[in-house]
Amino acid sequence: MGLSKAFKLGRESVHALDSVSLATARGSFLSLLGPSGCGKSTVLRILAGLEKPTQGQALVHDASPAELRRSHGLGIAFQDSALLPWRSVVKNIRLPLEVAGVRPDPGLIDDLVQLVGLDGFGKARPAQLSGGMRQRVSIARALAVQPEVLLLDEPFGALDEMTRQRLNLELQRIWTERPATTLMVTHGIGEAIFMSDVVAVMSPRPGRVVETVTVDLPRPRTIEMMRTPEFHELHDHVSDVLFGKESG
Ligand code: ADP
Ligand code: MG
Repeated sequence: MGLSKAFKLGRESVHALDSVSLATARGSFLSLLGPSGCGKSTVLRILAGLEKPTQGQALVHDASPAELRRSHGLGIAFQDSALLPWRSVVKNIRLPLEVAGVRPDPGLIDDLVQLVGLDGFGKARPAQLSGGMRQRVSIARALAVQPEVLLLDEPFGALDEMTRQRLNLELQRIWTERPATTLMVTHGIGEAIFMSDVVAVMSPRPGRVVETVTVDLPRPRTIEMMRTPEFHELHDHVSDVLFGKESG
């Protein structure tokens, strides 16, 4: 059974999700791709336990969002990075551990700073960083609890194409070094294919999963791979599904 969600707006009800269900193998990278307003963020917020489904129950690897949060199994990074401006990079990354009342292993935060390529910027404030660097901090912060499940809502959505491509390569490396089942929301077709084992394509609102497309390109993925016929074929197929064209 899938997740459904209707929001109450005054006397009206907005039907945001219609029976969304996603299956994902432990440790895999899954993208949720769909048009703006189709309910992608809502799915993520339900999985994070920030929103309750109207129907259905969210389970991630057999755990409810509440259980997952209790066991610190969940890391979340959102599009606008949402860093605390008065805290340094190091202190922003440490925040989820403070909230959880967990004392970090010595070296963990330094390792995370290094992992996301921010060596030497540990003491900087968010305002002193570029947009791409802030997103790296936000990913490091999501990883601070050493989560089993990582939720990323358009992590590079606000960045220019070149930075985005570079950060996708970085994210792939980070995901390889720190394996976690990852669900990334995006509206970029190329980005979804490049990063993922599985791309779940959603319909316009009320969002449903129209098709899950398996990407069996070898890893590590490279920029050159995006120019291969295999990649173009997947891209065409995913676009057809996304824009509602019949395929094959
Ligand atoms: P996406 O992330 O795919 O752009 P969202 O999940 O943010 O889409 O939103 C899906 C739909 O649900 C939209 O029509 C949006 O207006 C509505 N919605 C989202 N959150 C709320 C809320 N808190 N209250 C009312 N409507 C909401
Ligand atoms: Mg969204």
